[in-house]
Amino acid sequence: MEENTVKKIEVAEVEELLLNHSDDIIVQVAPAVRVALGEMFSLKVGTNVEKKMISALRKLGFKHVFDTDFGADITIDEEASEFLSRVKNNSPYFPMFSSCCIGWVNSFFIQGNDLINHISTTKSPLGCFGSLAKKYYAKKYNKKIEDIIVLSIVPCILKKNESKMPYNKTDDIFDVDYTWTTKDLGQLLIERNIDLPSLDDSDFDNPLGSSSGGGKIFGRIGGVLESLIRAIYYYEEGKVFDKRVEFTTSSILPDIKEVKLNINNRDYLFANCSIIGARKLIEMTRNHTCPYHFIEVMACAGGCIMGAGQPSFKDTGLQLNEVKEARMSALNFSDDESTIKCSPLNDDLNKLYDYLNMKPFDQKAENYLHRDYIKYGKH
Ligand code: SF4
Repeated sequence: MEENTVKKIEVAEVEELLLNHSDDIIVQVAPAVRVALGEMFSLKVGTNVEKKMISALRKLGFKHVFDTDFGADITIDEEASEFLSRVKNNSPYFPMFSSCCIGWVNSFFIQGNDLINHISTTKSPLGCFGSLAKKYYAKKYNKKIEDIIVLSIVPCILKKNESKMPYNKTDDIFDVDYTWTTKDLGQLLIERNIDLPSLDDSDFDNPLGSSSGGGKIFGRIGGVLESLIRAIYYYEEGKVFDKRVEFTTSSILPDIKEVKLNINNRDYLFANCSIIGARKLIEMTRNHTCPYHFIEVMACAGGCIMGAGQPSFKDTGLQLNEVKEARMSALNFSDDESTIKCSPLNDDLNKLYDYLNMKPFDQKAENYLHRDYIKYGKH
């Protein structure tokens, strides 16, 4: 079936469900969507339309509108705890590679299948959000988990496949049921004559709608690593790392950016790169010569803000780099404005863990928020 036909069916199915099951549908929106959706309505590139986007979703009939940034906070809390557990147990599996970019995870299993223990088991933000949102709603409103439907709006066409992978289930139920891209949402709003720029502002629902600044920068290259450093620093030093992480270019390859930090009397070398740099680092890992402790890899140059589900930069009249910079600055600005800088300090998240009687990276969290690549196979 043509990709466009699949998209239309998925959009139509959710619209149909909204007619009779709107109480059971939860929508979550990824960090990168809000800084690109406005381009489909001729707004200046890099305009953050978060609050108008929420109103637009409510106009479409969604009653529960949440933020995948909250899911990004969960991912980082889990990934930082997973990383620190490896450090404390003297694990041989360093470097640890990030696992939230599905383009990279697909590529890893082609290039680095023998290094399976080096990739983080933590689910991506949409999976973490979907898993806990279903548990929360089922418990709070006495519903069956299988009746709760999660729609994710994402910047990425590959996320449609990610949500259907067997390891993105909790207790055998998929964490995410439907996936629309930024372009799917924009197109639907245009078809329904919903003029995004003229809408009033609205806020995400709570308690799954708040996030730290760390969650907000997930949509750009280096954002996952920066959030992870903030969380590790907080867990290890008990203080907030509140400056921007300054990366330098690695001597291994210009594609690789690195930063050396001493946290709680340990030296760490962190890196971020695209799949080009990752190829070299996989080879070095295999030869035991990779110097890094944690590596963030993003398949799209610039990260999710430049994903294939976003409006094309070509429609803006600007150069690719200008669009990337504008979208990136919009996410950085929203991080700068955040009073809470790191995921472990997201109060709503901590309350949710308490409500579900779990702690980061404990057995329950492993069951809900981590992938068992070996049990389910790679894909
Ligand atoms: Fe998808 Fe690109 Fe983001 Fe990876 S970086 S998750 S491929 S949009």
